[in-house]
Amino acid sequence: MKRALVTGGSGFLGSYLCERLLADDHEVLCVDNFYTGAKRNVDHLLDDKRFELMRHDICFPLYVEVDEIYNLACPASPIHYQHDPVQTTKTSVLGAINMLGLAKRVKARILQASTSEIYGDPLVHPQTESYWGNVNTVGVRACYDEGKRCAETLFYDYKRQHHLSIRVSRIFNTYGPRMHPNDGRVVSNFIVQALRSEDITLYGDGSQTRAFCYVDDLIEGIIRLMATGPEFTGPINIGNPHEIQVRELAERTIRLTGSRSRIVHRPLPEDDPLQRCPDIGLARSVLDWTPTVELDTGLEQTIGYFRQMLTGTIH
Ligand code: NAD
Ligand code: UDP
Ligand code: UDP
Repeated sequence: MKRALVTGGSGFLGSYLCERLLADDHEVLCVDNFYTGAKRNVDHLLDDKRFELMRHDICFPLYVEVDEIYNLACPASPIHYQHDPVQTTKTSVLGAINMLGLAKRVKARILQASTSEIYGDPLVHPQTESYWGNVNTVGVRACYDEGKRCAETLFYDYKRQHHLSIRVSRIFNTYGPRMHPNDGRVVSNFIVQALRSEDITLYGDGSQTRAFCYVDDLIEGIIRLMATGPEFTGPINIGNPHEIQVRELAERTIRLTGSRSRIVHRPLPEDDPLQRCPDIGLARSVLDWTPTVELDTGLEQTIGYFRQMLTGTIH
């Protein structure tokens, strides 16, 4: 039985990954400082003897014995990562150094949850892994973007210098149940606003694009990436290539919730990328992976979750 460490394991994506690893017969050590994650996301796993939850900040060293490391710890929504930008960079950079040091000592394979944000406001569309990106180093998103870029650098330097077995996934916008209701991300914001019959806050004119991947598809991609042969490291895009304008997402959310909410416009946040869509050709060929969940289906699942949360069925 393999022993996996999931940092950020009580966050949105981390909790699904812990579940999936247990289902695949791993022991799972979930490490989280609960900065943006919640114990309730992994409550249902606590009775499983193969699951262990540890409160720990990965900016500090961690001495445990594991076979695989999935490094997901990092606030992921603009509101959260800009709340304490220095801590965000520390988590990405110091956290990566500590987890790489751990991987080196115990000879574990280590996977990094990188992000489409490393492409910044992209000048190449859709984004391929060979594109180096367009990031404003001194902007408000830089704490996240540059932290994640530096983490990628560290992963490749630990591979070159210390021969670590690494995997780097570049995750594009992912959504689903267990998203934080107040983290300001577009899918959760629109659904919660629609369910409360509040105004839907569309930033800018809504013509900016994103491509939304349902969480189950994303986790499948991550699992396949970790299992690739020793020669493949990535970086590899994992996301859904179905690109839509944010305005269309607002309209769909209203339709699917049957809400009476109106769309209102708010200023576009600083450095908000105007377009984003993954080229997943590499994932299709190397991982034999492609997303299968249609946007409406995934949104319905997510709406069901937030409906329960707002009516107090889940907390
Ligand atoms: P999330 O905020 O729900 O989860 C992040 C988790 O990391 C939280 O549980 C948080 O408490 C924990 N954490 C933060 N700092 C920590 C620290 N210093 N030590 C220990 N734990 C810490 O976000 P998510 O959407 O689940 O994202 C998970 C990972 O995937 C992040 O690394 C994020 O950058 C990456 N990612 C997510 C998306 C997306 O659309 N969800 C897109 C690209 C990349
Ligand atoms: N580290 C850790 N757990 C371990 C081994 C290392 O947290 O099991 C941390 C340690 O604090 C160190 C960092 O990882 O600062 C980088 O380790 P590495 O061995 O690469 O560097 P060094 O110890 O030589 O600084
Ligand atoms: N957005 C919006 N209204 C909101 C929240 C976000 O119009 O209430 C827009 C935001 O400006 C961006 C897109 O939706 O263009 C995605 O935002 P999110 O914060 O979810 O992710 P990211 O910008 O990191 O892709």
